[in-house]
Amino acid sequence: MGMRVDIATLFPQECQNYLDQSILGRAAARGYIETHCHQIRDYTLNKQKQTDDYPYGGGCGMVMYAQPIADCIREINRQVEESGRSKPHVIFMTAAGKRYSEEDAKRLAEYDSLLLVCGHYEGIDERVIEAFADEEISIGDYVLTGGELAALVVADSVLRLQPGVLAEEKGYQEESHWNGLLEYPQYTRPEVWEGRTVPGVLLSGHHANIQKWRQEQSLERTRVRRPDLYALYEEKEKGTK
Ligand code: SAM
Repeated sequence: MGMRVDIATLFPQECQNYLDQSILGRAAARGYIETHCHQIRDYTLNKQKQTDDYPYGGGCGMVMYAQPIADCIREINRQVEESGRSKPHVIFMTAAGKRYSEEDAKRLAEYDSLLLVCGHYEGIDERVIEAFADEEISIGDYVLTGGELAALVVADSVLRLQPGVLAEEKGYQEESHWNGLLEYPQYTRPEVWEGRTVPGVLLSGHHANIQKWRQEQSLERTRVRRPDLYALYEEKEKGTK
């Protein structure tokens, strides 16, 4: 049984459409992963199916009710447990959460199932976060209109690490952020495009030289573009010597 990810959102169709495409869609069709998106609005108890209200204490915007989110989570937990899994690890997508990184993707990839909860409007009644969240994640230091893109970022980055999703495991181990460095530049055909040539070493067929060039490029890119990552990498390297 492959990893399962559930998303609770006001836009389940939009999220599911994304997850059903390309690499993740094919992996799901082959049974390596499972994704399910749920409509929070289906769990409202009022006639208008309203999911939000004015904030206590005043201020702009609307705040999502605790009740529909809580009932949606309880139902998802029930469905997940009914399918023979343990209770999912519950993550609320919030701008005030811990900032997400590839290290978190690796950590979350170890769970059997995740439940990602998306806010909208001004956010979510804090009490439902307190009651259900195992953690809160922010995908970066900026504010989105809703948690859907954030949940898809987390789902995508975690699901691609699952066995069977990428053609080769090495595929993700050589990519940016896996070992704390940025990836080297990549090229494909033709050899000359609009006067720009592919670096000669890549055409040489000399595997050791290609590896050496890629490692140098990777280090140099990281040093120039991300001195913060480069400093951490150097520290780690010193520690292993
Ligand atoms: N009032 C909130 C604040 O200042 O922290 C922002 C609410 S935002 C407009 C609406 C929803 O988008 C949030 O409930 C959250 O689910 C999602 N969201 C916005 N920015 C996000 C981020 N950087 N990471 C994860 N989710 C985010």
